[in-house]
Amino acid sequence: MKIICVGRNYTEHIAELNNERPDAPVIFLKPETAQIRAGEPFFYPEFSKDIHYEVELVVKINRVGKNIEERFAHKYYSEVAVGIDFTARDLQSELKAKGLPWELAKAFNGSAPVSEFVSLSELGDIQNLNFGLALNGEMKQEGNSSMMLYRVNHLISFISKFFMIKKGDLIFTGTPKGVGAVQIGDTLTTYLEGKEMMKLSVK
Ligand code: MG
Repeated sequence: MKIICVGRNYTEHIAELNNERPDAPVIFLKPETAQIRAGEPFFYPEFSKDIHYEVELVVKINRVGKNIEERFAHKYYSEVAVGIDFTARDLQSELKAKGLPWELAKAFNGSAPVSEFVSLSELGDIQNLNFGLALNGEMKQEGNSSMMLYRVNHLISFISKFFMIKKGDLIFTGTPKGVGAVQIGDTLTTYLEGKEMMKLSVK
């Protein structure tokens, strides 16, 4: 299983980090060891003093494929979840400044909490889903998947040119605006269509 992540996929988040709008999807990977499941805590790593939450809609791949045409991409998923793309922002800034890869800042242990999955037959259009994140009970991020620069079917088509996708792979589809820092002792709660999906404590 692999976790494929999309960066800079919401305009207002690109602006808050002063990043450039990409002319193709920005893709990076996290290993299987990044995933934590609903109910497990997140342990704040010692190599960072600025861990940020980024709430994201997560798509679970349900069959193997490569070089998938966009018009067939919808056949490769049927469930979504809400995840957090934890980022060591201080380390990421150093790596970006040096033109180095982001993995140390993005793919560390526990950097990809994922809620339970919900069927799209219940939810409806994958490109019109409200999702969000609260920090200690206060809403910090609210997004709708209609605001993605690159939509899910385009992402799957693009990604599958480079990486064969397999059943169980997860795609983190990018974060809307409102990212921020967490501290030890915080509780993060994620929502999908108004329903609580995951409660995560930072230890
Ligand atoms: Mg992200």
